[in-house]
Parts: sequence; C-alpha cells; structure tokens
Amino acid sequence: MINNKPVLRPETLTVGYGYDPNDHMRAAKPPIYLTSTFTYPDAETALRAHDAYAAGNVAAENGGFVYARLDHPNLVMLQDRLAALDHAAACAVFNSGMSALATIMLTCLRPGDALLHTTPIYGGTHALMNTLLLPVQDIQPFPLPPTASESDLIATATAAMKHGPVGIILAETPANPTCSITDMAGLVRLADTIELRQGRRPLVVVDNTFLGPLLQNPLEHGADLTMTSLTKYAGGHSDVLAGSVSGSFCLVEKLRKTRTLLGTHLDAHGCWMLLRSLETLSVRTERAQKNAEAIARFLATHPAVEAVTWPGLLPLDSPTRRVFEQQCSGAGSTFSFSVKGGREEAFLVLNALKIPRLAVSLGGTETLVCHPATTTHHAVPRERLYETGISEGTVRISVGIEHQDDLIADFKQALSRI
Ligand SMILES: *Cc1c(COP(=O)(O)O)cnc(C)c1O
Repeated sequence: MINNKPVLRPETLTVGYGYDPNDHMRAAKPPIYLTSTFTYPDAETALRAHDAYAAGNVAAENGGFVYARLDHPNLVMLQDRLAALDHAAACAVFNSGMSALATIMLTCLRPGDALLHTTPIYGGTHALMNTLLLPVQDIQPFPLPPTASESDLIATATAAMKHGPVGIILAETPANPTCSITDMAGLVRLADTIELRQGRRPLVVVDNTFLGPLLQNPLEHGADLTMTSLTKYAGGHSDVLAGSVSGSFCLVEKLRKTRTLLGTHLDAHGCWMLLRSLETLSVRTERAQKNAEAIARFLATHPAVEAVTWPGLLPLDSPTRRVFEQQCSGAGSTFSFSVKGGREEAFLVLNALKIPRLAVSLGGTETLVCHPATTTHHAVPRERLYETGISEGTVRISVGIEHQDDLIADFKQALSRI
C-alpha cells in the first residue's frame, strides 16, 4: 500500500501547500496563468521536451510545461495540494467529477469487462455505466446490495466473471443520498479473491465525494484510487465544477495521458478558484458538520419524520458503526431523511422551506435540499431505487454554514405543514 501521509496536518496543507512564492515572482498568492502554450528557449530544448514526452516523462524538460492540455502551472499547484490531502503519490484534476470518473473507466476497463458497484450510486455514474459503457463497450455493471455480506459479494463477483473479467470495483461510501457505508477492507479482500480466480486484479475505486479527503482517506484503507467531485465541498460555494483522482504515480500517470487525449483537464481559472476555496475547507467542514448534527438530532425526534441517515446517529453497537469509525473521521453534512407518507408530503416540506434552496448539488456554504427520487436519481429504475433505501418520502439535505437555530426553526415550520 502506498502510504504518503504528510507530516503537516490537513488544516495547514489546505492553506498553502503546493505553492511557493519563490517560483512565481514572489507573489504571495498564486497568479492565474492564462496561457494555452509555453515557449521554448531554443529548438534543441523543444526536441528534448518532445522526446521526454514520448518517453512518458514530460516533467523532465522545459519546466514541465509544453501545452496547457497536458499540464499547466495552476493545475500542478492544485494537484500537489490534493495529493498531499489524499495521502497519495499523485493526483490528476479534471473539469468535473464525471469527467474524472469517465477517464478512470475509459483508461482502466477493456471492452467486455464487468464492473462491480455499490448501491445506491450517483445518478450520473449510473448513466455513464448504463448508457455509454454498456452499449458502446459491452462493459456490464453489476450492482452490490447496500448491506451485502461477504458471501453476497462473492456471489455477485462470480456472476460478473461469467460476463467477463472484473476490471473495477467502484464504491461510493458514504453513498448519495442514503449515507450507506461500505467496508473498504471488505472490497479489497474481494479484489484478492477475484484476482486469484481470474488472474487480473480489479482496481478498487472509491468515490469520496460525500466526505472528501479531510474526513476520509480511502487510500489508507487499501483503495487503488480515490475520486472526489471537487464541485461539492472542495469548491464549497456552488460556483465551480471540477473533479480529482489520487493514487499511485503509475496509475495517475495513465489517467493524465487519457486526460490529454480527451481534453478533460481543469482550466487555470477553475484551479485558482479551488486553491482559494481549499483554504477555508476545514473551517467550513467543522461548522457545517456541527449544524448537520443539530439538524439531524432535531429531525430524528420529530413526529413527522420516519428516518434520518446522518452517520453520526448510527447505533453505537451496530457493525456499520464500527466500519464508520474505522474509515471516517467525521460524519459530514449531507444526508437524507424520510417524511411519513410519500412524495406529496416530501413536496409539501420542500415547498415550505424558506432558507434552504431547492437545488441538486451539495457541499456549498448554503443549505440545499432536493427530492432524490425525482431529481438526482431520476434515471435509476424505481425497484432499484426503493431496494437501496430511497423512497418517495426521502429528502436530501446538504447542510450549510448558516446559523443552526434559523435552519431548525425553518424545518420546524415546514414539517408542521404535513
Ligand atoms: C456530484 C457527484 C459526482 C459528479 O461530480 P460533478 O462534479 O458534478 O461532475 C459524482 N459522485 C458523487 C457522489 C457526486 O455527488
């Protein structure tokens, strides 16, 4: 396992890591490099840079820069900072979470492969697998039930290997929007078993969007790649789209090559916005998590509420609680609750709320609410949705950094409509 745990704590790394004023005219903060191409001092250096690129080592010549689709200074600053936060040897940054996931799939899977994934899974990921990978590349997704036992995992893997070699085991944990938690060590053991049977080792990939690198480090638990939609908590202000993947140098280098072919890198301005947003990630996380706890506790005792999924409320003696405590250093601030009744009651509450805005996405300073069954998970077949714990009464909430008493008072008045 790669253990690149940095000496400095994340609260320190998020503020300045990856940027050295000495390399940039002593500017205290990162300048934005708005340039699509980089000049060579002479034709010989150009030749050497392109020789190095062909040999897979672009960073060796011309300060590492040739053309912005390959790499650019703001991208390098952001990637270095995120690699440190993810405890990884390397990180690649993309122009959205979906382009990060698609780049992983297109790079690490071959036509005819099988793919195992936890459920529920982000609607966009579901669509990527079922409307692109399956029809175009015959890559068959096999869903794993949320409470799969070790023998359920093996049974699904056995069925998958009848289709073709399992190339990836993808886990979204905690899952969107149910916060169901998957034991990463269990998936690593499953990868061992699959490797023994088929020869090729499947990659364990974790979508860490719900918690992010401050609250969960999947590489520490044996995952090969950790992916994060930076659009959410890292961006934190609902004004930029981006995604990242961290892992070993060798794997990330392969992803960067595909990124160069597809042009799915993040531009200089987007990188700069993220470098700036990361500076406040730890204080935003702390505040939003405190608010989430207060709201989750309020909802859990409300007579109109059937269930609340904030992981901090998991029963102390449950096996899931043990996994949660092993893997996560906090419960985050996005979760769901279900109102008694169904869609009608959920819509009543959503329409009555005054402070939270009704929108998809999560992780911003502002509180957002949505109805997963009819929005984020619209594309998922109904039976699959209900099996995985999303009902018509489910409401997702991404808790922001407003005052918790104002939020609770607003939920109180909205729930009184039922
Ligand atoms: C938002 C999200 C994505 C996709 O990220 P984008 O930046 O919107 O492309 C993937 N996984 C999860 C869990 C998400 O919430």
